[in-house]
Amino acid sequence: MDTIFTKIIKREIPANIVYEDDLVIAFLDITQATKGHTLVVPKTPYKDIFELPEEVAGHLFSVVVRLSQAIKKAFSPLGLNTLNNNGIIASQSVFHFHMHILPRYENDDLKHMHMVNHSASLTKQDFESIRASILNALL
Ligand code: AMP
Repeated sequence: MDTIFTKIIKREIPANIVYEDDLVIAFLDITQATKGHTLVVPKTPYKDIFELPEEVAGHLFSVVVRLSQAIKKAFSPLGLNTLNNNGIIASQSVFHFHMHILPRYENDDLKHMHMVNHSASLTKQDFESIRASILNALL
């Protein structure tokens, strides 16, 4: 399904493009959650990570690495998050796969996802059962 990203790819609406090749485009996120906040997007409109072919993902992530290095050189952030949201529950708002590159600065106001540690309530068997489910699904 076409989204606003397809319009950017087709140059129907403007964007601040920082990288482009046959498979991938990258442009500044309009919100600039932090300075240099960039989106890396496959040109084919895969909805989410579940539709993304592994070979496209491999190339796309190499572009994420290259741009992260460029952003580090340009702005000297103290750190950097990469982020990908899939599904409404996971805060996806544009249903065309994309990776966020979010450089981090002292006193920036980015509210990062808070991961609670549940390990104290899980047994060795719980971990083994979770592991077995994933191993089985990989077959
Ligand atoms: P997500 O919530 O992970 O789906 O991220 C979608 C991102 O697309 C948000 O961070 C938006 O700010 C960004 N976005 C939406 N429209 C545009 C646009 N026209 N140009 C640049 N970024 C956009």
